[in-house]
Amino acid sequence: MSNTAIVGVNWGDEGKGRMVDLLSEDFDIVVRFQGGGNAGHTVINDKGKFALHLLPSGIFREGIINVLGNGVALDPENLWKEICETRSKGVSITPENLMISSRASLLMPWHRELDELEEARLADRKFGSTKQGIAPFYSDKYQKKTVLAGELFYPERLKSHIRGLAEWKNLTLKNVYGAKEWTEAMLDEWVDGCCERIKPFICDTTGEFLYNSQINGMRILFEAQLGSLRDIDYGIHPYTTSSNTLAAYAPIGSGCPALKIGSVIGVVKAYSTCVGEGPFVCEMFGEEADRLRREGFEYGAKTGRPRRVGPIDLVATRYGAFLQGATEIALTKLDVLSYLDKIPACVHYEIDGKTTGRFPFPAALDSAKPVIEYLDGWRCDISGARSFEELPEAARNYVLFVQRWIGVPITYVSVGPERESIIIRK
Ligand code: GDP
Repeated sequence: MSNTAIVGVNWGDEGKGRMVDLLSEDFDIVVRFQGGGNAGHTVINDKGKFALHLLPSGIFREGIINVLGNGVALDPENLWKEICETRSKGVSITPENLMISSRASLLMPWHRELDELEEARLADRKFGSTKQGIAPFYSDKYQKKTVLAGELFYPERLKSHIRGLAEWKNLTLKNVYGAKEWTEAMLDEWVDGCCERIKPFICDTTGEFLYNSQINGMRILFEAQLGSLRDIDYGIHPYTTSSNTLAAYAPIGSGCPALKIGSVIGVVKAYSTCVGEGPFVCEMFGEEADRLRREGFEYGAKTGRPRRVGPIDLVATRYGAFLQGATEIALTKLDVLSYLDKIPACVHYEIDGKTTGRFPFPAALDSAKPVIEYLDGWRCDISGARSFEELPEAARNYVLFVQRWIGVPITYVSVGPERESIIIRK
């Protein structure tokens, strides 16, 4: 396999982590290139069940080198917690299998606090942030008001840099939100605590390492967080995340802009889910929604929040696959639909009396209504199927129907959360 990106085509939570966990066997390096610890990948494998937030999902495989690229929001406190929790279940995490780019910016403790304060100020107009500080972090990054991980190796410079940033940030905390100020002692504790602990993993050579690995024929897997519709530039603005969730950003966010991506596996869920606020054209409500949520266990990995649910949205999915430049699709959670007699699928939107298959400008989504087609259900357990032919005809028809609408081959069909619950169609 050439360098490959595994990316979300929808709103996130498509099952990217389970796909990376499955496919990482064929790769030498797994890189996280954007986002922070605000979402979670759930991975179930021979070592147990894990909710990963920032660690790349290749961490479970021996011999794989995992990289946190410069594009991630590096939260030292939460990363250290995650390393300890994952280690406690017998997973080895050392500077030999985890490299952090010295150019990754540090998520400061005040970013999480500011996220909470702003959501509280917005009250019923809130964005539905997970309050992990991601939006304040990325805004500060682009104002150049963050600290780079590599600065931990320059203690004097670091101290005065943080002091200057705190002076500036305290103005907002105190005067805008009436919150407490960060003192030098509190920040020293943060540096001497969690920052010191992640320091051994930070290195200045991740870019060269990735470049040389490519030249030497090693295979690199890029792992994204969230999905196309949450991309800061192309998603449902302003209900996006604050970074680029697209495969095109992977080389930049990983530390080596010259990397080439050979294939892009777009992960699509067999139905729709969305966390947080914003337009969600296909949303179901009431008992119908509760049942789908229960069957798919659709509760946030990080927050436990019930996810909003609906039928597959093929208008949004086709747009999402296009944004990702998906060369193949992994369709996940097909087994969850096994309880349905008839399976709804949104094939068009109706906007101001006109039917369209084109995903519109975000403002037009407010008045969009889903045009639904129904397909026959299969009403039996499909979680044991390991080949396409083993699936009942109605399930095969559903997969082919989705493939036709997206226009990209579905090469993987996932029928359960476990590593082996997969059908490969190649
Ligand atoms: P990610 O962030 O894209 O990795 O997705 P999440 O981990 O947030 O959500 C995917 C959830 O679905 C996890 O709990 C997975 O264990 C589970 N999952 C993944 N694929 C399947 C599948 O094919 N069937 C079922 N039933 N669960 C799945």
